Amino acid sequence: MGPAKTTEAAKQITYLAAALKAPRINEAASRLADQARDAGWSFEDYLAAVLEREVSARNASGAQLRIKAAGFPARKTLEDFDWNAQPTARPQLAALASGGFLLEARNVVLLGPPGTGKTHLATALGIIAAGHGHRVLFATATDWVTRLSEAHRQGRLPQELARLRRYGLIIVDEVGYLPFEQDAANLFFQLVSSRYEHASLILTSNLPFSGWGGVFGDQAVAAAMIDRIVHHADVLTLKGASYRLRGRGIDSLPSIRTTTDETSG
Ligand code: ADP
Ligand code: MG
Repeated sequence: MGPAKTTEAAKQITYLAAALKAPRINEAASRLADQARDAGWSFEDYLAAVLEREVSARNASGAQLRIKAAGFPARKTLEDFDWNAQPTARPQLAALASGGFLLEARNVVLLGPPGTGKTHLATALGIIAAGHGHRVLFATATDWVTRLSEAHRQGRLPQELARLRRYGLIIVDEVGYLPFEQDAANLFFQLVSSRYEHASLILTSNLPFSGWGGVFGDQAVAAAMIDRIVHHADVLTLKGASYRLRGRGIDSLPSIRTTTDETSG
């Protein structure tokens, strides 16, 4: 192919890529053409390589949008996690990192004292889910209840639950920091039921399951809810001292927390 012809084709590619709103095709086309000529690729290999650039760029920007929309309190990843602090959780987390739990609508429950990395790991799994194309929403248990109460008050709870089912992953952070009123407990139960065997939940709590009756104000509601949550779930129990207080000469926190976060992230 002579240089004049190449230039003409290149112009046309620029135009066509713009018409397709696929700017990376234009970028990749000429760069990969040189590579293809040098390496003797087939036409099919070349086309696949060019299209692949566009598709992976779109997936990556989709993931960024899903991460932004999820409402994480901070970006935390599994790579940032210091496994020396939680050695026993590592194999379970490694299995979850494949994202397979989302396809089976399995849940993850992270239990443990304050500062042991529950929110960090829930966020890291959420970011993985977003990368795999799942829509994700993160909020505290209190925020979820506020949101569901609002929907209930407006008579659109079923629609709200249906809408939330379209999210592959919902993260409920800090179950147990504040006890629920009876109405709130029932709304939360409906959230859990509506996702059961449809879509995943990640829950974090500083209380063992045995303490959830107190949170939901009713042992029967708590038992029915825990039953649905753990039927298909990985339960990870984190241990040890707060990572936030490391090296500050503070060995432990009071066992009952009456306020929310007294330390900043
Ligand atoms: P929890 O939700 O269990 O109270 P967080 O996940 O909020 O704890 O952790 C508190 C802070 O310490 C966060 O900034 C988090 O990123 C960090 N952190 C906790 N555990 C680890 C760890 N094992 N490796 C790295 N950072 C950690
Ligand atoms: Mg937390």
